[in-house]
Amino acid sequence: MSENYTGAAIGGTRAVKCGGNYAALLRAQAEAIDRGCDQVVFLDAVQRKYIEELGGMNVFFVFEDGSLSTPPLGTILPGITRDSIIALAREAGRTVREEAYTIDQWRADAASGKLKEAFACGTAAVISPIGKVCSASGDFEISGGKAGEVAMGLRQQLVDIQYGRAPDTHKWIRKVF
Ligand SMILES: *Cc1c(COP(=O)(O)O)cnc(C)c1O
Repeated sequence: MSENYTGAAIGGTRAVKCGGNYAALLRAQAEAIDRGCDQVVFLDAVQRKYIEELGGMNVFFVFEDGSLSTPPLGTILPGITRDSIIALAREAGRTVREEAYTIDQWRADAASGKLKEAFACGTAAVISPIGKVCSASGDFEISGGKAGEVAMGLRQQLVDIQYGRAPDTHKWIRKVF
């Protein structure tokens, strides 16, 4: 988690895949690797407390009541994987909220057990569970540092659709010649 770099500003270029966005990211990423982390979570540029997304992935939270939440669009990239996960989770009967979530709330919900899982998603990695968050104000674990059931279930579903093992009821697959 980076408290020194923000991913996007309102009116910035972040909402599309744009090379210029990745320069600041690379520095934050290098710092994360130095600290033994894999990825950087960016906070909003204005208040520096709302979770936005990871360097190349969107983020989801899974709660004890089975619902999911993900940061709202605006200053984040509207990922295709994000859209697909919202659709699949809703079809499975889960509530999915697109709502602001702060780093402090994330830490508190992880500690109280209200938060069961957190995962990142994007075309490249499909879904990557987030087991631990490192930050200047203290590290914390989610789902005991292990991959969560909901994340892995959604990952399997998406991969099965991609590989043609499950029916593509949403017409997500395009034939590439
Ligand atoms: C690529 C990317 C994503 C994920 O988008 P997908 O369309 O799912 O691959 C999310 N955030 C950022 C900043 C990205 O560059």
